[in-house]
Amino acid sequence: MANTLCEREGCDSALPVAGRGPMPRFCSTRCRVAAHRARRASTSLPAELTGRRRWVRRDERKAPRRTDGGFASATAPESWTTHREAAASTVGVGLGYVLAAGDRVACIDLDHCLTVDGLAPWARDILDRCPPTFVEISAGGDGLHIWGRADVVRGRRIRRDGSAVEIYGQGRYIAVTGRRFEDCPATLADLSEAVASLT
Ligand SMILES: [Zn+2]
Repeated sequence: MANTLCEREGCDSALPVAGRGPMPRFCSTRCRVAAHRARRASTSLPAELTGRRRWVRRDERKAPRRTDGGFASATAPESWTTHREAAASTVGVGLGYVLAAGDRVACIDLDHCLTVDGLAPWARDILDRCPPTFVEISAGGDGLHIWGRADVVRGRRIRRDGSAVEIYGQGRYIAVTGRRFEDCPATLADLSEAVASLT
């Protein structure tokens, strides 16, 4: 039987009924562009992340999983493992990284900023505030994660042009793809000033 759901990770929309020609693989132009963008990107991860025992798997519902298949938690260190072990696991669909207290690792999550026309201006404005640092394309292919160093104790959510910007620092896990955006480095820069400037 043919697959009847959109192939973009994170999209469960039904496919449009095909007329003549091949069955479509995506529900929309937006999903097709996002999936191709995600596939094209080269992958690599900063050593500042792979060197820490903060790794979990993630399932297709974006829930964190242990390498033995059970559920993991951002607040239960015994459910985390090394990057090597998580990367070797076949549980779920990919990797996740836990932002833990005291690590000074932060992530700025830009939702739905990669459009059919490219990077949304509000997202470019936020990227321009950041020194060169590791930026990855999200699992769905239409968002960005800006990774860096900053003391973020309490997460924040900011609205931008109808989209959401979230800043995370601890007690939270992030779905990691390692798909680098543009020509960003695979290193973490200090994002303290950029984070402070976002209100
Ligand atoms: Zn879709």
